[in-house]
Amino acid sequence: MKMKCEVIRDLFPSYIDGLTSEESNELIKEHLEECRECREYLDDMKEDIVQENQPVKNKEAVKPFRKLRQKTRRKIILAAGGAALACGLIFGGGLLYYGRSWTAESEDVKMTIDAQGGIATLRFAPEKKNCKLTAEAGEDNTITIVESKQIPFAKTYNPNAYWSCTFLDENTVMGIDGQNMDFREDQVLTIKYEDRTETISIGELASRALENPAAQSEDVKMTFDKDDTGTVVLGFYPELMGVSLKVEETGENRILIRQYYDGEGEPVENGDVYTLRFSGGNRIQKENGEILEFSEEDELIIEYQDKEVEIPLKDLWKGELSEELMK
Ligand SMILES: [Zn+2]
Repeated sequence: MKMKCEVIRDLFPSYIDGLTSEESNELIKEHLEECRECREYLDDMKEDIVQENQPVKNKEAVKPFRKLRQKTRRKIILAAGGAALACGLIFGGGLLYYGRSWTAESEDVKMTIDAQGGIATLRFAPEKKNCKLTAEAGEDNTITIVESKQIPFAKTYNPNAYWSCTFLDENTVMGIDGQNMDFREDQVLTIKYEDRTETISIGELASRALENPAAQSEDVKMTFDKDDTGTVVLGFYPELMGVSLKVEETGENRILIRQYYDGEGEPVENGDVYTLRFSGGNRIQKENGEILEFSEEDELIIEYQDKEVEIPLKDLWKGELSEELMK
């Protein structure tokens, strides 16, 4: 490449954005007329600008997806498929100018993983000011994180790069054009930086994305029942359609309310109960028959996604539960 071409190409970003002076425009046009390489170079650059808009749309599509909690998992996946979210789809970063980009150093990149509702999204954010990142797909699930300078005065755009993947189950990923692909337990996603490579287990991403979340407290109706023998039954019922709840014991006097998506259109018994057997006002019988004494301060802790609710065991025994709790 002649020196002249380099100078001209440096002007292209501003030229495309319409920021170059009349004189510069004349120079560029003159050069383009006699230099085919630079014409192609400019065309490629313009194409990148057009492609930039596409990914942003896909990213937006992820957001409404999160509001679809009341829908079934299958419907959610269809919604995501409709938005053309597929494994290996790489979007982000805006324009990549040839010759002005380089493989990023790992310390200049902050990676975060967001995994829920079947979708895992890796976000790569630049640590350096005025830089932006692009993720380039390679063979064998390898992505290279490429850094480049942001164009001064350019309209605002997202400087982050993204990699996103939709999982149908623990071994199936939604492929491009809705074709599903199986993956093996040992398959990894390799992320290449200038100074090192990082690998992430795809199976692990899948389990994180598919794990059933704890329920939001506002989506759960709790019921209370106590019989003559001192048995207290707490019921947890979903307020959302197409969702089941399960009570999970996560510790001593600690339970978590987990939310599951039901199969499409199947009517299900969708609540769950937690039973406490009291033996007098200060003792409680465990599942294994062991009888434990509890104090005034001992509480049952109910974990939701948004908060923890603490109920003193003595209140459960007396049946004195606040109205707010039973709403
Ligand atoms: Zn040229």
